Amino acid sequence: MKDTNKHKGLRNILANVLQAKGITDEKVLNAIRKIPRHLFIDSGFEQYAYQDKAFPIAANQTISHPYTVAFQSEMLELQPKDKVLEIGTGSGYQTAVLLELKAEVYTIERQHKLFKKTSLFLPKIGYKPKRFIFGDGYKGLPEEAPFDKIIVTAGAPFVPKPLLAQLKVGGRLLIPVGEETQIMTLFIRKSLKEFEKHELGDFKFVPMLEEKN
Ligand code: SAH
Repeated sequence: MKDTNKHKGLRNILANVLQAKGITDEKVLNAIRKIPRHLFIDSGFEQYAYQDKAFPIAANQTISHPYTVAFQSEMLELQPKDKVLEIGTGSGYQTAVLLELKAEVYTIERQHKLFKKTSLFLPKIGYKPKRFIFGDGYKGLPEEAPFDKIIVTAGAPFVPKPLLAQLKVGGRLLIPVGEETQIMTLFIRKSLKEFEKHELGDFKFVPMLEEKN
């Protein structure tokens, strides 16, 4: 669990790569410069941790590309203290970025193995969400709703209604929608009944699955 100057140097280069790909939010880039991504990845892949690549984590899941994490983080337009629901804790890397941006994070994971691993690991390196939840993200988290922002980090075949319902007026839901590939879709809640929809390009995620295991 070491973080060295070499790792820091590689992170600075990664932040430059993401900037060249279009990420402009300095707060997001600073989070990328700060978070030791190599600790979120199986040690066999450590040398690739600061390339803009996705990698296997436990339970057949992947840690998202740094570009995808940075893009989603930028599009959420986070304000400090925003109450954020994250669907798909996975390795916890996206969670750490949200926490660096001073959000209050509730994060749901349906794979028990990952839920256990990440809920032990993240606090150990100083990242403390409000809650880790073992559950099904299709249902959202009604007991903590409404949220300022909701971010889904798995490919959803459709937009789950509970997620739209659990958004504050003025809030944002960012969700990759589709089966094989997904269109990153942003919903902004304009009023109780009205949502503005924006499509932000193609991405590829592991599928969002129902129920838990
Ligand atoms: N943000 C994570 C991405 C992990 S991949 C990271 O950076 O590491 C997507 C994650 O979503 C996987 O861990 C997968 O198990 C989880 N997932 C899939 N369907 C889900 C659901 N219905 N509810 C909650 N999590 C889900």
